[in-house]
Amino acid sequence: MKILEERIRREGQILSDTVLKVDSFLNHQVDTGLALEIGREFGRIFADEGITKVLTIEASGIQFAMAAGIALGVPFVYAKKKKAITQGDEVYSAEVYSFTKRESYQVSISRKYLGPEDRVLIVDDFLATGAALVGLTDIVAESGAELAGVGCVIEKSFQEGRGLLEERGIRVHSLARIAAMSPGQVQFIDEESF
Ligand code: 5GP
Repeated sequence: MKILEERIRREGQILSDTVLKVDSFLNHQVDTGLALEIGREFGRIFADEGITKVLTIEASGIQFAMAAGIALGVPFVYAKKKKAITQGDEVYSAEVYSFTKRESYQVSISRKYLGPEDRVLIVDDFLATGAALVGLTDIVAESGAELAGVGCVIEKSFQEGRGLLEERGIRVHSLARIAAMSPGQVQFIDEESF
């Protein structure tokens, strides 16, 4: 997605060879027009998949899951990082190791909002080590829902996330794929022809 790549080039701060900061437009301050455009792109890519629900993890996947849900005309659900008292035991949960925070946490979703009748699109802001998305795919499997695919806004293709998901036979589409980066420089993999 060209406008996304241009925005990353213009505003992205490459903090190291592995960490990209995009909080001026993507995951702290959010460019709402761009978020809606991203949702429409996911909607276009997964239009024929019969999606009934979009799934993400709080917090920074929410705006893109909502935009994709609007485009596809379906609800979105976000996994919570702490089990809220109101959720009781009626939850699916998975353990996730955070690449940026360097600690493990539990993600959970109420059993009420995901089940065997669903066909799911998982959406997130970044695909890095894949830990967060593998956790979500475990939850989808536990619920009996069918997973149609995974849509990521930015993929750091030099990390192992895509490989882990593809090993499981999952369809992965990322809107900007970074082949390599270093402070002041970012190199994209050519957009796939969808
Ligand atoms: P993963 O589980 O694929 O390693 O990444 C999990 C989460 O870490 C992503 O959803 C994202 O929120 C965060 N993350 C991973 N790499 C980066 C990065 O380079 N920059 C930012 N801002 N967040 C990242």
